[in-house]
Amino acid sequence: SAGCRNTSSARFHIHTTLQLSINLSYVGLTDKYMNFQELNLPNALLRALRDKEYERPTPIQMQAIPAALEGRDILGTAQTGTGKTAAFALPVLANLLRRPPVGRGRPIRALILTPTRELALQIDESLGDYAKYTPLRTCVVFGGVNQRPQIDCLKRGVDVLTATPGRLLDLIGQGHISLKQIEFFVLDEADRMLDMGFFDDIMTIVRRLPAERQTLMFSATLPPKIRELARQILRKPVEINIAVSKPNEAIEQGAYVLYETQKLGLIKELFAKPLESKTIIFSSSKLKVKELAFAFKRMHLN
Ligand code: AMP
Repeated sequence: SAGCRNTSSARFHIHTTLQLSINLSYVGLTDKYMNFQELNLPNALLRALRDKEYERPTPIQMQAIPAALEGRDILGTAQTGTGKTAAFALPVLANLLRRPPVGRGRPIRALILTPTRELALQIDESLGDYAKYTPLRTCVVFGGVNQRPQIDCLKRGVDVLTATPGRLLDLIGQGHISLKQIEFFVLDEADRMLDMGFFDDIMTIVRRLPAERQTLMFSATLPPKIRELARQILRKPVEINIAVSKPNEAIEQGAYVLYETQKLGLIKELFAKPLESKTIIFSSSKLKVKELAFAFKRMHLN
């Protein structure tokens, strides 16, 4: 239907099991852990969670945090939006606080590997928020930008490093990063990593990690290749599966199949009548966002 003039005829409703990332649903909780205090997290982290105004753990947090605090490996099936970042970040930070580093210096003790720079930045920001009342330091490295500030950050000493695979391997190759003292390894969005062709990079990185470590792996789906990867990098993992919830019936969703040049026309059509509510439009890059903002101005959209 691409190229058709009447965009609404190209419209279809999404009836997949799509989960809205802002919908942190607590329906179906067993109430086993009603709050973060009962999860045995250190006070410094609890204080930070109060600042974030998190009232209680999400289902993935309830299941992953106790197992990870016990030192178990985890294979978690959960998407972004379920609170999975805190599900791995909180126990990793807690375990780091419980076990001060052996010997002198400040080796990197936790590595979080994630596919994109956006995710890497988000994770590092969350880590910074959760760790703000602790002496732990974080740093993030990803490709496509000057590596100098990243090297400066590494030189200051880091406890938890968040990285995308390519830049991590570059910096290891240049001698700026050693993974010899990693105690905690998190592989985030594993299925997306494989889709992006990172399998060999992941295995190169894993081979550099100490065999004695705790590994937490998260993936939105568990196809056979991911199961195989899990078999290779995890030891007797606790499996946690956060079922993907159905979209709220009251929310109407739609998708439009269009050529690039038709998109602005569609927006004009959709916003022909003034709306009472506000709208968020996401786009793929900084440049696209600027172009869109400019085009909306020309269209007198406020
Ligand atoms: P994530 O799935 O990790 O990307 O998290 C999705 C969003 O949920 C983020 O904005 C988090 O700050 C927020 N979040 C995570 N855990 C909780 C919680 N227990 N209570 C409220 N919000 C949370």
